[in-house]
Amino acid sequence: MTSPNRNLNIEFTKLFINNEWSPSTDGKVFPTFNPANEEKICDVSEASQDDVDKAVKAADTAFKRNSPWRSMDASGRGKILGRVADIMEQQKGELASIETLNTGKPYLDAVQDVEFTIDVYRYHGCLADKLSGKTIQVDGPYFSYTRPEPVGVCALILPWNYPLSIFAWKVGPALACGNTVVVKPSELSPLTALCQAAAFAEAGLPAGVLNVVNGYGPTTGAALATHPLVRKVAFTGSTATGKKVMTMAAEGTLKKLTLELGGKSPLVVFPDANLESAAISCHNSIMINSGQNCCAGSRVFVHTDIYDEFVEKAVACAQNRVVGDPFDSLSANGSLISEMQMKKVLAYIEKGKAEGAKLKCGGERIGDKGFFVQPTVFSGVTDDMTIAKEEIFGPVQSILKFTDIEDVLDRCNNTDYGLAAGVFTSDVNNATYMAHNLKGGTTWVNCADIITHQTPFGGFKGSGFGKELGEDAMKEYCDMKTITIQVINKNS
Ligand code: NDP
Repeated sequence: MTSPNRNLNIEFTKLFINNEWSPSTDGKVFPTFNPANEEKICDVSEASQDDVDKAVKAADTAFKRNSPWRSMDASGRGKILGRVADIMEQQKGELASIETLNTGKPYLDAVQDVEFTIDVYRYHGCLADKLSGKTIQVDGPYFSYTRPEPVGVCALILPWNYPLSIFAWKVGPALACGNTVVVKPSELSPLTALCQAAAFAEAGLPAGVLNVVNGYGPTTGAALATHPLVRKVAFTGSTATGKKVMTMAAEGTLKKLTLELGGKSPLVVFPDANLESAAISCHNSIMINSGQNCCAGSRVFVHTDIYDEFVEKAVACAQNRVVGDPFDSLSANGSLISEMQMKKVLAYIEKGKAEGAKLKCGGERIGDKGFFVQPTVFSGVTDDMTIAKEEIFGPVQSILKFTDIEDVLDRCNNTDYGLAAGVFTSDVNNATYMAHNLKGGTTWVNCADIITHQTPFGGFKGSGFGKELGEDAMKEYCDMKTITIQVINKNS
């Protein structure tokens, strides 16, 4: 087990363009903070529109025909991703410490994020030379085949909740397929993206293939999403911003798009479920990362027969969850990402109380330094309440009651979101029926929040479209070309 490093030397704070570190052209910087103690960590260069243009042009040049990157064998691209994974393995403790410092998440969770990131690079590195098309039987004297080709310059816009791993979710498949990328991390958590850029340079990635431009969404992010040389945008964040990005991607040059947006994921607990295990899974699903998790189980539907017993267990789990210094190995939750996010969560809690939900535990800020919120449980939640409809993105569990399977299915699906869902039951028929009828990109049975590098992840409806992770992620970063050749029999 690696140990946390509290005395970090933050080395990378500038823009990363063409494998070089440079300040922004207008010299602008923005401060980044430790949300667990509200202290400034350092200043980070803020990319202007000119810097974004420079980064996109570098990526465009690196994508040109016969460039070192385009001439490289697919297996060569895979080897670079493998080398990045090796470098990150060596830097695990350092990377996890920086992630904890910049996000307030527990160090042990950050270590898991580094491990997930490494797995993603290895997995997509191995897939780089396995991209394939089909040979197709066609009518007439022709021979047809399909060939996946990289799209071009990809703009990757990242959120703040999993800055390390979501960087890899997008960069891994994009580079494995032979694209070049410009990444804009969230302004709230810019540091580990820069560390990963350094690892790519060390691993021998040709200049211009990966560029990182930090800055604010409406300026740096918008300049990137609208740049005419960008051919694909992959975005993770809120549905509201996702819609804006979709409009931007349609302006000027039409861009391919992947949107991984929010959720209001239902978990359904039947009376025949293993109640202890279901209560723990439901608890972890909403509390992990302090609830700042797009697929958090934020609506738990529990059958009337076991409702009171389940609520008791949920409250016990919440009361036992240790919230505190994220570098302390006992802390299961650290702080939320920002004062704004904390206030947003506390406002939802007030709304829950005002609309008649029963506050069973939690509900308050902890201390007055750092953005810590108590694990909170509401029972008696009904579908019309704001806390049952909107994405809170905080450690707030809402428990609802149901009696009938058809009715609960309708209620689960009665939302514009469709990211994930879960069902807890020992009846295989119930499990399968629910899994096939819940409207969401992922359904878990007798577990929740299980995301692996091998399985595709992505939403339906207002939760977005396109897949990340797994083999399917590779398709999002390729254009499939059809080639048809006339076959002439010279002897006839
Ligand atoms: P946003 O969706 O606004 O931000 C996500 C990313 O998009 C960030 O890099 C942000 O930059 C960037 N961005 C913001 N505006 C634009 C724009 N006009 N053009 C291009 N890029 C833009 O999320 P927030 O950080 O504001 O969080 C708000 C809410 O979103 C949360 O409370 C939560 O409910 C939800 N959320 C959901 C996530 C998920 O995984 N589904 C992840 C994060 C948030 P910058 O941060 O610099 O502004």
